[in-house]
Amino acid sequence: PPGLLEVRDLVVEFPGRRGTLRALDGLSFDIAPGEILGVVGESGAGKSLTGAAIIGLLAPPGRIAGGQIRLSGQRIDDLPPAALRRIRGRRIGAIFQDPLTSLDPLYTVGQQLVETLRTHLPLDARAARARAVELLRDTGIPAPEARIDHYPHQFSGGMRQRVVIALALAANPELVIADEPTTALDVSIQAQVIDLLKRLCREQGAAVMLVTHDMGVIAEACDRVAVMYAGRIVEIGTVRDVVHAPGHPYTVGLMRSIPSMNEDRERLAQIDGSMPRLDAIPVGCAFHPRCPHAFDRCRTERPMLADAGRTRAACWLVESVPERPA
Ligand code: SF4
Ligand code: MG
Repeated sequence: PPGLLEVRDLVVEFPGRRGTLRALDGLSFDIAPGEILGVVGESGAGKSLTGAAIIGLLAPPGRIAGGQIRLSGQRIDDLPPAALRRIRGRRIGAIFQDPLTSLDPLYTVGQQLVETLRTHLPLDARAARARAVELLRDTGIPAPEARIDHYPHQFSGGMRQRVVIALALAANPELVIADEPTTALDVSIQAQVIDLLKRLCREQGAAVMLVTHDMGVIAEACDRVAVMYAGRIVEIGTVRDVVHAPGHPYTVGLMRSIPSMNEDRERLAQIDGSMPRLDAIPVGCAFHPRCPHAFDRCRTERPMLADAGRTRAACWLVESVPERPA
């Protein structure tokens, strides 16, 4: 079935005085309605940038330099800013790491929810307030009739993130982009917040892109996962297959670095080296300087995503069938 979100050959560039940096280099993926796609990778891989490009919030001078983004079949990568603003909040909900950046400290959570609801849905003030109470109740805020008149600082971090989730889902968006939604939260409540996000999105049939560096969150919440490296997707597949049968050497390294999935916790494997800077992305396979299996071809020719058995991976070792153009 066609994706609710379709990203094709997405390129994001940052023009600068010393040349143009290519931060995302040919990303293609789909997310189906009701599906949660995890996007994982080390810091600097381009995970957050992918979310920002989709939602039309690239920080200047960053710009989409190629490819297409479609939401329910409609191109959204080339819309004027006013049209994109209408889509944000209404058709795409966003949840970021720090709930305080998404909430206005000067307004009660009720005022913010009512404002969002009334901007996007044809509700009068009374109906919007009733819906806001309902949303707070759905997100597990105790005594929502009273809490609705409280200010963000009167909530704990976990409760604030629940409010942010309520705001993001207020207008029944088709797509939710959640960028490290639990990273700033206490470990003890992270799972609850992930469960909440998962349940609400399933109920609404929203497609979710969940950006995280935490494979535990991926395993817990996601249906499929895309592994990013140096602005590219290097592997994509179901969570089960990517975790248990990874085809790309980088994914293999990532999986080994998860304590709970490693039998020998004392000797936690690390991937030697670090993510390349944008101005120094190696030619060929961008991972080759860190790859234990690199050979000549890897240093000159870039592998594209191809069938790797159970997943799709961009690696010369696993390529069998070249990817068909979308
Ligand atoms: Fe390693 Fe070569 Fe595969 Fe890149 S293409 S991951 S360098 S084997
Ligand atoms: Mg990030």
